[in-house]
Amino acid sequence: NKQVILRDYVTGFPKESDLIFNDTTVDLRVPAGSKKIVVKNLFLSCDPYMRIRMGKPDPTAALAQAYNPGEPIYGFGVSEVIDSGHPDYEKGDLIWGIVGWEEYSVITPNPSHFKIQHTDVPLSYYTGLLGMAGMTAYAGFYEICSPKKGETVFVSAASGAVGQLVGQLAKIMGCYVVGSAGSNEKVDLLKNKFGFDEAFNYKEEQDLNAALKRCFREGIDIYFENVGGKMLDAVLLNMKLQGRIAVCGMISQYNLEEQEGVHNLATVIYKRVRMQGFVVSDYFDKYFKFLDFVIPYIREGKITYVEDVAQGLENGPSALIGLFHGKNVGKQLIAVARE
Ligand code: NDP
Repeated sequence: NKQVILRDYVTGFPKESDLIFNDTTVDLRVPAGSKKIVVKNLFLSCDPYMRIRMGKPDPTAALAQAYNPGEPIYGFGVSEVIDSGHPDYEKGDLIWGIVGWEEYSVITPNPSHFKIQHTDVPLSYYTGLLGMAGMTAYAGFYEICSPKKGETVFVSAASGAVGQLVGQLAKIMGCYVVGSAGSNEKVDLLKNKFGFDEAFNYKEEQDLNAALKRCFREGIDIYFENVGGKMLDAVLLNMKLQGRIAVCGMISQYNLEEQEGVHNLATVIYKRVRMQGFVVSDYFDKYFKFLDFVIPYIREGKITYVEDVAQGLENGPSALIGLFHGKNVGKQLIAVARE
């Protein structure tokens, strides 16, 4: 059973050498009387929060649970049940939820493991669009942003796993939507595949404030925050009165020893801006409502999704680390095995 192990706690940018491979044997049969299940991992999801778990445990952080050095890392994946001692699961079931970064995992199912019912869509979508990232976009946009038709919406890291869906949801709502991304290829995707009204490559802009003013002459009603840092500071100068900022993530800060200061925060007072963080797992009870909403749009081709698929567990570490260098184009995942 090939596994990806955390070598030691990480400081600064993660490197491929922080993750090492191990090969062990695993019993593919559940012992009699156990309620565990054995799964074969088909796809694994690469997610930015995994970097936070690679750092030293920090009891003051919300995401305090760190990976243990010497043990396999874990994250969201799509898996097939190959043996089950659990009454709700049987051999052949497909599930998504937390599993180890390994070929086979022995798990105790919990409420955040979901059985996959719709298989007429790509199975890999359950690592992203129909999994944790999709739920993040859905909960963040509808529950936190309080969107209204005709409002102006800005999304950062807009071509990524979460951002590409937020933009499409905002278009469905009838909003004017602008995205930022880190390459011209991604900007092209935003405008020509996901239907954003405008997009810019933030790495090529001398002045982010000027770029935002160019795209939002009257200001921003909703900012879906994925990156933090300088982008947040520039956005704060462009928020409209009573605007909303959904703080989903701040990837520009995850590898810094000390977080960058935000200079323009006082504008939230005068502009009466509501800025609210959220964590997707608080909304998992809405997962089936989300599926009922999103699946018809996918079937009709009204919502599309771009994935970046690394082949084989051996390419997992570079795929995960690539997130912090913007190497992924769309949702980054790993194809570990075929069904
Ligand atoms: P993405 O698929 O968007 O991948 C990460 C992207 O972030 C990269 O491709 C890169 O795109 C961009 N990026 C990397 N480093 C920087 C940097 N220093 N400054 C600006 N942009 C950078 O990831 P996800 O869609 O999975 O996640 C997006 C955000 O949502 C993250 O902050 C993540 O932590 C957060 N999140 C929060 C959840 C919650 O419950 N609150 C749940 C899931 C995700 P580019 O080339 O455009 O720079």
